[in-house]
Amino acid sequence: MSSFATSLIVWQREHGRHDLPWQGGDAYRVWLSEIMLQQTQVATVIPYYRRFIAAFPSVAALADASEEQVLAHWSGLGYYARGRNLHRAARLIVTRHEGEFPQDYAQILDLPGIGRSTAAAICAQAYHQPHAILDGNVKRVLARYCGIEGWPGEKAVEARLWQQAEALLPERDVACYTQALMDMGATLCSRSKPNCAACPVQAGCVAFQARRVIEFPAQRPRKALPERRATLLLVMAEGRILLEKRGPAGIWGGLWCLPQREEGDEELAEYAACSGWKIAGQSALPGFTHTFTHFRLHISPLRFDLEQLPLQASLPGREWMAVSDALAAAIPTPVRRLLEPLVEV
Ligand code: SF4
Repeated sequence: MSSFATSLIVWQREHGRHDLPWQGGDAYRVWLSEIMLQQTQVATVIPYYRRFIAAFPSVAALADASEEQVLAHWSGLGYYARGRNLHRAARLIVTRHEGEFPQDYAQILDLPGIGRSTAAAICAQAYHQPHAILDGNVKRVLARYCGIEGWPGEKAVEARLWQQAEALLPERDVACYTQALMDMGATLCSRSKPNCAACPVQAGCVAFQARRVIEFPAQRPRKALPERRATLLLVMAEGRILLEKRGPAGIWGGLWCLPQREEGDEELAEYAACSGWKIAGQSALPGFTHTFTHFRLHISPLRFDLEQLPLQASLPGREWMAVSDALAAAIPTPVRRLLEPLVEV
């Protein structure tokens, strides 16, 4: 076993995290935690994880739920494709594997939303199989420890990191080693304030020995995010708000959203007239910006108060909901931000 793996395993037993709610759980729990932890911090994930497991305690329960129920439990966690893929994968596990989570790496990798590192983490932690992980935190640890230059988003750099991840992987104690790598990345070897003084592999760390820790891993080459604009309509009538369900594709696919318009005032007036709205009052609310991975969305909220609920209230994909019901539905974070102040205290 490499001295890197031995030192990490010893360190994990004494100093690593042992009380995360998914630790020691079955493959379903490890899988759920791995998907929730993508792009999201542990502290944010824990309450979502607990609520999700309480609502869907098994693969079968998740497969039985509707997509709407699953997304309602994902609401606020962002990156909703993760929730949709989780649901699709649960249904495939029922049809392909009779509801038993597969133990074979290739079969796990074949499920939607599961990449190489996630499949490896499930195999290592749930089944003690030696497979190397390489999530964002582990890339940072290995880039520093092995002194790998370049941005890990580049294919060649990522390939070098995978090589090292496999070379350092021990054959036994693999669950403990995998947890140690995750814990190291999340605690000691953090992005901006690494605690090298307490690190068990400091003596062999290339970046530390060269006093270049903060230079690794190299940053993504800067590129300005595209800017987009949208007007979100808060249409209120008799204490209810109008929500529209998005189609399955796109960043908010399958979620309940406020009607969104990209056009100017004239088209907006036409839209209101076509919808049969009798407008009693109209006001612009303070705008804000929501940043996605690939673009920045500048949101201008516009509130309309109608005299009464329009007659053709329920069109397919459109619903007038009590604000409290809307907040319990599958809605994206910017919509939640606009609805929360509307709850009557
Ligand atoms: S010595 Fe510092 S930079 Fe190197 S692996 Fe340890 S914490 Fe990370």
